[in-house]
Amino acid sequence: MKLEDLHEELKATNTRLVAVSKTKPNELIQDFYDRGQRDFGENRVQELADKFEALPKDINWHFIGHLQTNKVKYIAPFVHLIHSVDRLKILKEVNKRARQNERVIDCLLQFHIAEEESKFGFDLAEAREAMESETYQKMEHVRIVGVMGMATFTDDHDKVRREFQALRRIFEQLKQDYFADQPHFKEISMGMSGDYKIAIEEGSTMIRIGSILFGPRK
Ligand SMILES: *Cc1c(COP(=O)(O)O)cnc(C)c1O
Repeated sequence: MKLEDLHEELKATNTRLVAVSKTKPNELIQDFYDRGQRDFGENRVQELADKFEALPKDINWHFIGHLQTNKVKYIAPFVHLIHSVDRLKILKEVNKRARQNERVIDCLLQFHIAEEESKFGFDLAEAREAMESETYQKMEHVRIVGVMGMATFTDDHDKVRREFQALRRIFEQLKQDYFADQPHFKEISMGMSGDYKIAIEEGSTMIRIGSILFGPRK
């Protein structure tokens, strides 16, 4: 699919495009940049750090992969949004490294909404526990701006829709209970190449699209 067509499709929506450029070369990213795309997503710390160095500095870099505590320091100076905060320990480390860089880093809480056992993420009870912890409440260098989730990889559209609806409900619950007076808590990152249309219908504010834009990954 052409980038311009997807931009056009999103115009009538409240959804932004994060172009997932993992494994793709800098020239391709530069080409998308030249055509107006500013938000790019990566899932490996080293690859992201290398691309940050090489590419224009006004790119918004989104980290969307599983994050290990010992690697947070490499992206803390510049990352725009971390989609994949899946435990309090990571949030603590992001807060520490953000403080060292004298910034506040925006984060999403990743939720486990799919059927697969191996997927990372909080469930609602765990997220509540984290939000109510003294550890979190003392943090001054992270800002939680919403939630992220990945649906089961399946052709069963109803199932995918139910999972996105579940994420939406989690978002509403957290908003009501912890972020009611915080307008920055407004993001629902859901939808990939195969299911983004359903995600938009269910209230996604950010879709993370790789293969249909850049071609299949090896
Ligand atoms: C790779 C990846 C995407 C993009 O997947 P496509 O199916 O290629 O669009 C989105 N989100 C996450 C977390 C990813 O790792």
